This record gives sequence, C-alpha cells and structure tokens, in this order.
Amino acid sequence: RQEQYQKLRNVPSVTKDGVDIVLQLNAGLLVDLPHLAETGAAGVGLFRTELQFMIAERMPSASDQQALYSAVFAEAGERPVTFRTLDIGGDKILPYMQALEEENPALGWRAIRIGLDRPGLLRAQVRALLKAAAGRPLKIMFPMVATCDEFERARAIVEREKSYLSHHGHALPSDLRLGVMLEVPSLLFQLKEICDRADFISIGSNDLMQFLFAIDRENRRVADRFDPLSTPMLRALRLVAEQARVSGCQATLCGEIGGRPLEAMALLGLGFRSLSMSPASIGPVKAMLLALDVGELEAFIQEELENAGSGDTLRPKLVQFAETR
Ligand code: PEP
Ligand code: MG
Repeated sequence: RQEQYQKLRNVPSVTKDGVDIVLQLNAGLLVDLPHLAETGAAGVGLFRTELQFMIAERMPSASDQQALYSAVFAEAGERPVTFRTLDIGGDKILPYMQALEEENPALGWRAIRIGLDRPGLLRAQVRALLKAAAGRPLKIMFPMVATCDEFERARAIVEREKSYLSHHGHALPSDLRLGVMLEVPSLLFQLKEICDRADFISIGSNDLMQFLFAIDRENRRVADRFDPLSTPMLRALRLVAEQARVSGCQATLCGEIGGRPLEAMALLGLGFRSLSMSPASIGPVKAMLLALDVGELEAFIQEELENAGSGDTLRPKLVQFAETR
C-alpha cells in the first residue's frame, strides 16, 4: 500500500474530470519537512508554531523563532508555507508558563486571545516570521478568531511590524497574505465580512466540530459521538466554500477530516479545492481524488443536503457513492 502511494508522489493532483486539487501538509517541527519531498505535497498548509514552544524548556527567543522559520523555508524551497501564529492555551500548555486555573480551558484564554492581550508575544513572532520570509512569499494565519475585529487587530500588529522593518531597512516578504482559521462557529455568521477582510480562510475542523456540537475533542466519551459527515457539519462547511467562492477568498481546510479519504471526498464535493493534512494521508487522499468525478459528486451532495432529514449523516450514502462510481 505504502509503496503504491509512493508511486503517486509525482502524479499531478487532478480529479478524473480534470479539476486541480491542492494537497498540502500539516507540520510543526523541522523534522516534518522532508515529508514534502516524500509525499509530493504542494506545500505546508499548516505550520503549528506552538510546537517549538511546547518542546522547549524556556520561552524560545525571537532569534530562536526566526532560525526555525528560516530553516523551514530553506527546507520547503519553492513550496509555499502557511504559518499559524501561536495556538497555546486550551490543551496546549507551555511547561515554563504558569498554567491558568480555568474551568473550561478550551473556551478560555488561548490562541489569538492571548496574542491580542499580550501583544509583545505576537509582535515578536510576527517580526521573526517577516524577517525569515525576506524576499519570498509568506502566509500567516491566526487561530481561534471569533470576530472580524480580532482579525483586524491581529492584522494591525502585522502591518505595524512590517512598517517597522521596512523603516529599518529590512527586506520584506515578496508577497504577504493574512488568513484566518475558521474554528469558532461565530465566524459562520459573519462569513461575508471575514471573506472581505482576510486573504484566505483555513477551516480548523477539529475545533469547529468541538464547538459546533459542544463535544470536548479530548474526551473519548463524547468526541466521536457526532459525525463530521452529518448534515449540520456539511452544511456549515458548504456555507464557507460558497461564500469564499462568491467573495474570491481562498478557502482550505487543515483539520484531521481533510486527511480521511471519505471525508476529503465530501469536502471536494462541497467545493473545496485545497486541503492540508498529515503526511501519511497525502497518498490515500490523492488515490481517492484521481478516481473521482467531482462534478458528479457535487450534484449528488447538493441533492442529498437538500433532502436529508435533520441530523442525518450522509456517511452511508457517500460510501455508496465512492463504491459504485
Ligand atoms: C483544528 O482545530 O482543526 C486545527 C487544525 O488546529 P489544532 O488541531 O492544532 O487545534
Ligand atoms: Mg484548532
């Protein structure tokens, strides 16, 4: 199997009916980067910058951060990399930071909330990213954004660092794109506004599932209770794909579901043309899409989503679709 997937490495990622699909990798450490060449992925769609912070014994300095980002770019070569700013708090705890006693850490002081309340941390990281990306394209996205205002404030921090660096004679990235992770359901109800502001949207389906269904993603008792292929989740995802298309905003997905062939198939059927996943998933997902008539699937899913009873899962129907075409 693994060998079969290896052979697909250099096969273009195009569906049977000729639609180009971008498959990228999720990564978090330098050791993940060789997977780009091994899998033939188009780039890094999610670089989890908090990993460096989580494995360190003390807070990584600005130059430690810049060194990592430069090394990531060097390894990635021509391939694009999307860095996510620090996503700490919740389940991601730093050994050298005093843990906050919170009743509900997943709903607590985390990710961009910390970044905006302690802008020194975010500023240092953004500056390290901008410096490391001098002369090449850079994509940055912010985790756990719940409002357009949070995105605007994060963007203002980036703009400020950019002016600071250019004022001090530093070379800037050749192209800078700022995106938002869609993981908090409130963004589903301000999609047009966020699409108008952000250069791209990346759905964090792990957290989106958690918050949409109110199921703790770390709690085995409830985590698998609801199906990502259920009508409400698919409708939520469809809203994003449709608004992104109308607004001309790039939409991608980097949660775990993007790496499961059946779920990935459904995402393509909803209109997504870009997914980011763990390295081991690239082969299986590519094998799926090479055999897929995405036009036919789109019509099928639209029809099913209009007719599905409330709360039903489309899983059996999608399995049937996959097996019979
Ligand atoms: C997600 O929430 O889907 C995601 C990609 O981010 P993380 O798993 O790091 O929270
Ligand atoms: Mg997340």
